[in-house]
Amino acid sequence: MYGPLRRSVVRLLGVRAGAAAGRGVGLGRGVALTGRVWTGTEVFDGTVVVSPDGKVVAARAGLRIPEGVRILTGAWVGPGVVDAHVHLAFGAPEAELAGGLVGVRDLGAPPRDAKRWRRHPLLAVAAAGPILTAPGGYPSRGWGADGFAAFLGDDPRSQVRALARDGADLVKVALEPAGGPVPTPGQLRAVVEAAHDAGLAVTAHALAAPMVGRALDAGVDELAHTPLDPLPAALVDRIADAGIPVVSTLQCHAGEPGRGALRNAAQLVAAGVPLLYGTDLGNGGTKPGVDPRELDRLADAGLGREGALRAATAASSGAAGFGGRAGDGLITVGRPARLVLLDHDPLVEPAAWGAPLAVVTGGRLLQP
Ligand SMILES: [Zn+2]
Repeated sequence: MYGPLRRSVVRLLGVRAGAAAGRGVGLGRGVALTGRVWTGTEVFDGTVVVSPDGKVVAARAGLRIPEGVRILTGAWVGPGVVDAHVHLAFGAPEAELAGGLVGVRDLGAPPRDAKRWRRHPLLAVAAAGPILTAPGGYPSRGWGADGFAAFLGDDPRSQVRALARDGADLVKVALEPAGGPVPTPGQLRAVVEAAHDAGLAVTAHALAAPMVGRALDAGVDELAHTPLDPLPAALVDRIADAGIPVVSTLQCHAGEPGRGALRNAAQLVAAGVPLLYGTDLGNGGTKPGVDPRELDRLADAGLGREGALRAATAASSGAAGFGGRAGDGLITVGRPARLVLLDHDPLVEPAAWGAPLAVVTGGRLLQP
């Protein structure tokens, strides 16, 4: 529908208007969103009605809409998207909301920023805080120089306990030999044990096969990226056996090194490893808002368009650290509404995400 240029213009306008619209308006006597409804489990032409306090009160075909309820008509109604890997410092909650997102997980930020975002009333934000790395390690010498990294010393357990006291929703470790020294296996094990003792999961940046192995040895709970190194079948099987999910971040690695990631993603899908939608907002030319290109790459990895959308809704809203705050990525009667209204069916035309007609979340209506 949109060429690349048109899509970027639409996205830019959407972000600007959304920032201006800020936190939207109240729901008055309720809101009805009408179009093709994709609940995450079924599809029908009908209406989703949201109560004044922001709950889904009805979702079906042939509904009589109660008087006074505001009706918004589009082509498609579905759950808002949840991005399991962002760096919000390179975007803004308002721009994410205006782009069709209802939740994000920040995997690397200065502690003060993380604390502020966690309190956002409309966007569900889970945040790891600073990335644990070796002294001088990734990302401290590059984009993360300004408070995005914390160096592991001789007592990683105390450092993890301090992060937990500071409100961390999960722990992120970086194993990136291309960006400096990496944590030792002993440090990594201590991080994982202390995080688990504190009730927190650990996600690992590991793009190279040996680092994936080291992360698995330490018992991490998730890989924050699809690895770039072509993964041997035995390592794919180890990831599958560990039962851990992998955050996709395929588009930000598009290009030569990304080819390994696309092949790995297909192998992981074939092995039954859950892929979670994540863009790594802030890296690789990403922009705030849902990225239809990431959805396309997930679809191409073997999930198909509907599977890709599940990876970006039901699956990603259950990512470690949200603790239920991002909802269940479905449209469910009786549950808080976290919905979007689009002017095309994104399962037919993924570029529809570029300019949502409306987002309903946190009991507010945004019309970017
Ligand atoms: Zn990242």
